[in-house]
Amino acid sequence: MDKLLSIGSAALKKAALNEQAKEFILENEVLFNVLKKAADRYIGGETLEETLTKVIQQNQLGFKCSVEFMGESTRNEQEAMLATNEFIRICQEISNGKLYSTVSLDLSHIGLAVSEDLCFNNLMAICSEAARSGTEVIISAEGTERTDAIMNTYKRAVKEYNGVGITMQAYLYRSKDDFKELIKEPGRIRIVKGAFETAPGVSMPRGAQLDEAYLGYVGQLLSEGHLCSIATHHHEVQQQAKTLVQQYNPDKDKYEFESLYGIQTEQLEKLKEEGYPAKLYFVYGKEWYLYLCNRLAEYPLNIFRALNDIVS
Ligand SMILES: Cc1cc2nc3c(=O)[nH]c(=O)nc-3n(C[C@H](O)[C@H](O)[C@H](O)COP(=O)(O)OP(=O)(O)OC[C@H]3O[C@@H](n4cnc5c(N)ncnc54)[C@H](O)[C@@H]3O)c2cc1C
Repeated sequence: MDKLLSIGSAALKKAALNEQAKEFILENEVLFNVLKKAADRYIGGETLEETLTKVIQQNQLGFKCSVEFMGESTRNEQEAMLATNEFIRICQEISNGKLYSTVSLDLSHIGLAVSEDLCFNNLMAICSEAARSGTEVIISAEGTERTDAIMNTYKRAVKEYNGVGITMQAYLYRSKDDFKELIKEPGRIRIVKGAFETAPGVSMPRGAQLDEAYLGYVGQLLSEGHLCSIATHHHEVQQQAKTLVQQYNPDKDKYEFESLYGIQTEQLEKLKEEGYPAKLYFVYGKEWYLYLCNRLAEYPLNIFRALNDIVS
């Protein structure tokens, strides 16, 4: 069974990276509509407007939200500017609608792969709009070839706007040192296990050692009352994090449990009912094909949900 699941996962990762398959699907109306049905479970929509409707509904149910315009690895200044303008629009809509939401972004979407300065300037433009309503802007973690540049940009940005946060991948061995640097800064630290393939020896596989490292970071953040996001869908890890919350008893505005929209939402719902701050992470945009493949690849049993969504 495990072997079959890992074969399925590898095939889905391959499908995600296959540009020809992606183009064929996106240009074929029937296939597009079929797969979009499966993607709908995981995305806010193709537009910000569709997503805001869902954010408002979830806010009314007591969930905090985060919104990301999907995309990464922008290769030129013009595309980076277009993405930056869209993130500014997200900040404006959050402010206008007084929504209980933060913004999340990949720095490579706003120009990191073009130049660090371009990216920093774009990030500052987004932050200055976010600052008008005190909205947090949380930087995502990407592949390891970008970790240094992301850390540097974050450290520069948080000096200008303390509402910037960063995502740290617990599976990287280097995170032990990075964490010592990050915890000195005031921004929220979102702890995730890590999603990217890495070179051998750079990251820990899923398992007890990683769970221990993950909870070690969470415990330290909670004990110091540092802003923190516990971003995992792993039930056992969430339960152990709850024990840490009870042990250190931090203010409720200092920490949150965070899940990607459409994944193990019942667990997050339960945490919310138990009184823990709970946050849903929405992504939106036209790039949903890659996002769908990634969600299926990380948990291939989701294929059955996708089949059900397609035939329903
Ligand atoms: C809010 C948020 C932001 C993130 N941002 C980043 C980022 O910036 N950079 C980055 O590298 N990664 C990011 N991730 C992804 C993260 O690194 C993990 O790859 C992902 O969350 C899977 O790890 P896990 O801890 O949730 O569960 P795992 O340890 O992978 O799995 C444990 C259990 O969780 C459940 N589960 C996990 N994934 C799924 C799924 N797709 N469908 C259904 N059940 C599932 C299953 O029950 C599984 O047995 C983010 C995740 C979240 C929740």
